[in-house]
Amino acid sequence: MTRREWLGAAAAGAAASAGAAPRATLSAEIVRLKLRHTWTTVMSSSEYRDNLHLRYTRDGVTGLGEGAPIVRYQEDAAGGRRVVESLRPFLEAADPWRFSKLVREVAARVKGQYAAKAAIDIALMDWVTQRLGVPLYRYLGLDPRDTPLTTFSIGIDTPEVTRQKVREAQAFPVLKIKVGLATDEETIAAVRSVTKKPLRVDANEGWKDKEEAVRKINWLESQGVELVEQPMPAGMIEEARWVRSRVHIPVIADEACLHPADIPRLAEAFDGVNIKLMKCGGIQEALRMIEMAKSLNMKTMLGCMIESSIGVTAAAHLSPLVDYADLDGNLLVANDPYAGVTVKAGKLVLPLRPGLGLRKAAN
Ligand code: MG
Repeated sequence: MTRREWLGAAAAGAAASAGAAPRATLSAEIVRLKLRHTWTTVMSSSEYRDNLHLRYTRDGVTGLGEGAPIVRYQEDAAGGRRVVESLRPFLEAADPWRFSKLVREVAARVKGQYAAKAAIDIALMDWVTQRLGVPLYRYLGLDPRDTPLTTFSIGIDTPEVTRQKVREAQAFPVLKIKVGLATDEETIAAVRSVTKKPLRVDANEGWKDKEEAVRKINWLESQGVELVEQPMPAGMIEEARWVRSRVHIPVIADEACLHPADIPRLAEAFDGVNIKLMKCGGIQEALRMIEMAKSLNMKTMLGCMIESSIGVTAAAHLSPLVDYADLDGNLLVANDPYAGVTVKAGKLVLPLRPGLGLRKAAN
């Protein structure tokens, strides 16, 4: 060993004994996801979505994260990227094994911006479970055979296009139909003209008063609809309680249920909650919501936004815990950069590889 080599080795040893961890690198990119069909709900209509993709690399392992900003909560991808950039020095210097403490610190530093928080949480959890060499579901102690069926969502469209979309969704045993307009009866009639499958219906806050909601739901009950999501605006909790006592299928809160603290006050007004990583800020917070809802004897659903396989696969790893899944966001995307969870005869099939189990898409 030369004197120079000896000095270098001694310096490295001193750094290691001082606990100086190798720094991580975190990069954030805005990715444009193109939709297979124009996607229309009561809230909006779009041809593409801009999501935030994160890469957290340390010790030669890269954890992937995704944030799908929700316009309803004044989020966009550029704002999400600014948040991640502002947290980058902190996250690159932090110890990822303290992921629980880390996401709490992120929550304390940043107001709102739940999609960006979800991207950070997902990337950390992917990294940690890859380093542990286990799939995320296994780290959580779950059985991958317990995944539920996922619905395939049919956005609002003309009766002709609706019929076409329902035919294309032949492989899915349960469909989720977006309603909430004056044309609801026409939409359901179009669906029913081509399939007898069980349906779930999402009004996305579209019915504006409790009488209309009860009328619509009672009619939907006669059409083989097995549950309805967010019939009225999120703030109408008292009205939702009134509606619930007059209908015979489960009513699930979505827009009314963002965070764990929302759940107790919804327990009397809804039968269940739709939990999304992008609403609450990631995997760890979603787990808290699932447990809280279960402890209040509520049904649990895992939903998603328009997302690539990163976000949808992250949610799918939690799906053995829930009653219903609506995890089809990646299937609506034409240029998904990754492959992860798949769907077989409607059932979610989790990848068995460590972490989220993502791969670059073959296309
Ligand atoms: Mg919904």
